Amino acid sequence: MADFSGVDFLRLDDLLSDEEKLARQSVREFVSKEFLPRIQEHVRQDGSFPMALVPKLADLGLFGANLHGYGCAGMNNVAYGLVMQELERGDSGLRSFASVQGSLVMYPIHAYGSPEQKQRWLPELAGGRAIGCFGLTEPDFGSHIGGMRMKAERRGSRWILNGTKRWITNGSLADVALIWARTQDGVRGFLVEKGSRGFTAGDMKGKFSLRASITSELFLQDVEVPETSRLPGAEGLKGPLSCLTQARYGIAWGALGAAMACYEEALRYSQERLVQGGPLAGKQLTQEKLVFMLTEITKAQLLALRLGRLKDEGKLDHTMVSMAKRNNVDAALQIARLARDLLGANGIVDDYQAMRHMVNLETVRTYEGTHDVHTLILGEHITGIRAL
Ligand SMILES: Cc1cc2nc3c(=O)[nH]c(=O)nc-3n(C[C@H](O)[C@H](O)[C@H](O)COP(=O)(O)OP(=O)(O)OC[C@H]3O[C@@H](n4cnc5c(N)ncnc54)[C@H](O)[C@@H]3O)c2cc1C
Repeated sequence: MADFSGVDFLRLDDLLSDEEKLARQSVREFVSKEFLPRIQEHVRQDGSFPMALVPKLADLGLFGANLHGYGCAGMNNVAYGLVMQELERGDSGLRSFASVQGSLVMYPIHAYGSPEQKQRWLPELAGGRAIGCFGLTEPDFGSHIGGMRMKAERRGSRWILNGTKRWITNGSLADVALIWARTQDGVRGFLVEKGSRGFTAGDMKGKFSLRASITSELFLQDVEVPETSRLPGAEGLKGPLSCLTQARYGIAWGALGAAMACYEEALRYSQERLVQGGPLAGKQLTQEKLVFMLTEITKAQLLALRLGRLKDEGKLDHTMVSMAKRNNVDAALQIARLARDLLGANGIVDDYQAMRHMVNLETVRTYEGTHDVHTLILGEHITGIRAL
């Protein structure tokens, strides 16, 4: 695999600090040297993640990278975004692993946990010695989380949890599952440990997409947890929704990485592939596709960078994140489809990346708020009329 040098048509690197570029470079090298040589093997086995790389991901400071204290790297949000971009240049499954651990498990413990919960879990999760998962989606409710059926009933100083969560990344791997459940006072989050009585996880097989990632179903039958396992600061749906905003921010950057990988592969391939006496890249139709790809990548980079700066200034609104997630994932998916097309028959085999990214991006379009759900969030923001 040739070295990847990035895509920077508008000289956006001039707007990055040395620390931000360094964070990007270290993940870029890790992905090229250590992750990409293994991805084919893991994609061929449905639901297998290169767990051997977890300590290295932790050494690079990639779990909860934009959080402060407790062994976290404390990067600014642009550096964090660039890290997500580079991880997803490898595979959406790799970025998902880091997003779930950091944005969906460590962030809520950091934001809403008790001092004891933070001390107990954050250093372990940052160090990759513990794995976490985020249980929000249920078999009957994905987009409409208000319909949640998972129930938590209070009995003295303990809670009893009953219900099922589905489509949970890293569910069967996790040492701690953050389970969102309905209580008589509204939705609350509970840290449920692996091995708790009545708690089982089974992996979902047959995925065409995100194959190098573990996706599980979690079953909770009369699982008893102490009150000290409830996140004290998380009240109502704003708890899980605020975690989703963090993860969606990372996805807006991550999708760029997948798009860049596809663009770079299609460009290189079309320069080398000869058709009718000349390179495929010399054909007008090919150039139109490449121009579309580069333009969409550049627009998406501008969105992501502005979002990152606003996040660092504390001026980010969740609707801005919706726009970036919706746009950047959609652009990446269109780019991946065009790249697959340009590769012809070679585009359907796993010696090339385009189709792997393309099918992964179908998941990315669906999770963390589907494309249409983000359309409706923005529609409500513009008109003041809720259509969701
Ligand atoms: C590989 C993978 C990993 C995942 N990991 C996690 C995880 O770690 N934790 C977790 O909790 N969840 C996870 N998810 C679940 C994911 O977040 C949900 O799949 C997503 O929220 C969509 O829910 P759904 O699949 O039930 O689709 P639905 O909500 O049933 O949507 C189906 C279709 O209806 C559309 N739709 C929905 N509502 C409306 C409306 N009001 N108007 C118009 N159209 C509408 C949607 O846009 C979509 O096109 C994962 C999913 C996948 C595929």
